[in-house]
Amino acid sequence: MEEKKFPIYKYWATWKQDDLDYNNGFSSSIMFKEYKTEDELNKLLQEIIQKNAYEKYTDKNPVLIDSGIEFKEEESWCLRWFNHYTYNLFKTDEEVKKSFNEFIERKIKQNWENGHYQTERKEGNSNPFYCFMGAEDRWRWNICRCEHCQEVGKITIDH
Ligand SMILES: [Zn+2]
Repeated sequence: MEEKKFPIYKYWATWKQDDLDYNNGFSSSIMFKEYKTEDELNKLLQEIIQKNAYEKYTDKNPVLIDSGIEFKEEESWCLRWFNHYTYNLFKTDEEVKKSFNEFIERKIKQNWENGHYQTERKEGNSNPFYCFMGAEDRWRWNICRCEHCQEVGKITIDH
């Protein structure tokens, strides 16, 4: 099958709040079917901050310190919290796993090339490192078939 790569953006925010003596925050990534404009991205970021900081900790007086959203890469799978998802359409579970396997192999190779698995180059290595959150262990893979995934037309592999 024809496999597509989709634009993936990373976004983050940190803030102070009354009940913590350290900064609270989040960082994650998101895949879209199409590229987004700067305005669309900023609007989305504001909505995420509104929901996950201002509304969630409304009685803790959150004060934003830093936030941003930027293009990360075009890829076939996008990392979330211990899962990856894609908008690619597959006919069988075998196709799903084959695609995900190729993606993992590609990222492992990238990490090697960036010097992350050679112990002597580990320290102070500022090259991009792809974090798998367990996805490199194939026995963890579990294809999600929940309503939410079906509703938005994505395929998720939990790991
Ligand atoms: Zn799901």
